[in-house]
Amino acid sequence: MTAPRLSLNDGKSIPQLGFGLWQVPEDQTARVVREGLAAGYRLIDGAAIYGNEVGLGEGLRAAPVARDEVFVTTKVWNDRQGEASTRQAVEESLARIGLPSVDLMLIHWPCPERGKFLETWKTLIALRDEGKVTSIGVSNFRVADLEVIIGEKGVVPVLNQIELHPRLQQAELRAFHAKHGIVTQSWTPLGQGKSFGADAIRAAAARVGKSPAQVILRWHVQLGCSVIPRSTRAAGLAENLDVYGFALTEAEMAGIAKLETGERTGPDPAVFN
Ligand code: NAD
Repeated sequence: MTAPRLSLNDGKSIPQLGFGLWQVPEDQTARVVREGLAAGYRLIDGAAIYGNEVGLGEGLRAAPVARDEVFVTTKVWNDRQGEASTRQAVEESLARIGLPSVDLMLIHWPCPERGKFLETWKTLIALRDEGKVTSIGVSNFRVADLEVIIGEKGVVPVLNQIELHPRLQQAELRAFHAKHGIVTQSWTPLGQGKSFGADAIRAAAARVGKSPAQVILRWHVQLGCSVIPRSTRAAGLAENLDVYGFALTEAEMAGIAKLETGERTGPDPAVFN
């Protein structure tokens, strides 16, 4: 099974469902990447700060899948924002992964107090024009941050990767993204399992004969989001990709919409620097 693709606003496309590498130990990353690609995944979500870009590249080279079939994302960490340091950070990521370019480079966090995300965004635009990265986007950007970077150069990020799960549904950002042709990509999509026991999830899981995790991933898919769950087990990877053979009803989607509590599992982008 492979996930369908979503169109990006720069003419490219991204597989809708991939797997993430946060907290995957470097010595297991090559195996996880190889097993993920063998299971049918074609989207890998990495980041310099995850400390496993070398393993990402090793797994990519070991898998029986052509490079151009795989979509590789990585990210510029907060302390590398700014023109010269972003250029260097991107070069270092490419060297660690062992690729001449990646499919998508994101600014990991806006870090408003640092005051450098606009300069960093302009640098990514230049790196894209130079062919070092194919597409460019952001992560953890708020509406106000997006307005700043779009307003400056008119270059709209292809994607914003944000915390999104049943307890934090991000309606305002999703509406802004929809208006501007930005793909919403959900991180920590399973929300640390905190909604697995909710009636709306359990009832849907029982009806379709799937796990609570699969129901939640299917909810992301039906919202139109891209989604990047993490599992280090081959069986978990396979389970999380198996969400295209069933659908949630409108009533089930509405039931999950009511699980919003506004609780984050990670930092607040307004204050994380
Ligand atoms: P996730 O929601 O994917 O959950 C991972 C946890 O759920 C793990 O403990 C895993 O063992 C468990 N799990 C996975 N599949 C399961 C299943 N089918 N049933 C039960 N449990 C299951 O969380 P995550 O790793 O926090 O987020 C996913 C990816 O998002 C990360 O790996 C990373 O690539 C990305 N991310 C990005 C940011 C950012 O700031 N941009 C922040 C956090 C995560």
